[in-house]
Amino acid sequence: MRIARFSDGEVPKYAVVDGPELAVLKGHPLVDGYESNGERVAIKEVKLLSPTLPSKIVCIGMNYRAHAMEIGQDVPDEPLMFFKPNTAVIGPGDHVQLPHQSNQVELEIELAVVIGKLTKNVSVADAAEHIWGYTVANDVTARDLQFSDLQWARSKGFDTFCPVGPWIETEFDPDDQVIESRVNGEVRQKASISDMNFKPLELVSYVSENVTLLPGDVIVTGSPAGISKIDSGDVVECEIEGVGTLINPVT
Ligand code: MG
Repeated sequence: MRIARFSDGEVPKYAVVDGPELAVLKGHPLVDGYESNGERVAIKEVKLLSPTLPSKIVCIGMNYRAHAMEIGQDVPDEPLMFFKPNTAVIGPGDHVQLPHQSNQVELEIELAVVIGKLTKNVSVADAAEHIWGYTVANDVTARDLQFSDLQWARSKGFDTFCPVGPWIETEFDPDDQVIESRVNGEVRQKASISDMNFKPLELVSYVSENVTLLPGDVIVTGSPAGISKIDSGDVVECEIEGVGTLINPVT
């Protein structure tokens, strides 16, 4: 099942994706379940929003060996955690806005885990039942500031630096699906989810031993190699096989 959140000009609503249409839900699926309100709308007639409103985005750095190597690092012995603020989140079609503080903003496609319930000190064996589903995220990064600042908060945390969407796929099972980013139609990153060092269930467990995860929170699981600069006027497409394609213009 694919869960979208959308606006038709009124209060944002949740819906189940059904081909080119949305079957609108009565309330928030994590609170009220998946009961339809009977309304159906065409996806192209509405504005899709970020499918989740996380209290925080927990990011995992250098989780693909080829990416760690391209930035001169090795894969860490433990997952490397950092955060993006929830004010960085934008939805499908929203513009990534390049901040004047940086001359080198880059894209990082990442598989995003969306948490479904309060998650604290959960084992790897129990992690799956805490996951609502998976979506696509772009860990947009001001690469020059990442290296000049001691902390990554600024380089990763600008407004609009966390596109999320287009929906949450609740039946995705991470295996060897293709993860691919394109800029203006040209492939920039292409890898297999199986190249990930720490797997999603391990990450949910690890993160939950360090910080409490709330329903709707997001863990972005690291970027494959091929990160590259984005410029104003570009259109970035982030696609994960079996989940969907997240498209954002850059200004
Ligand atoms: Mg990243």
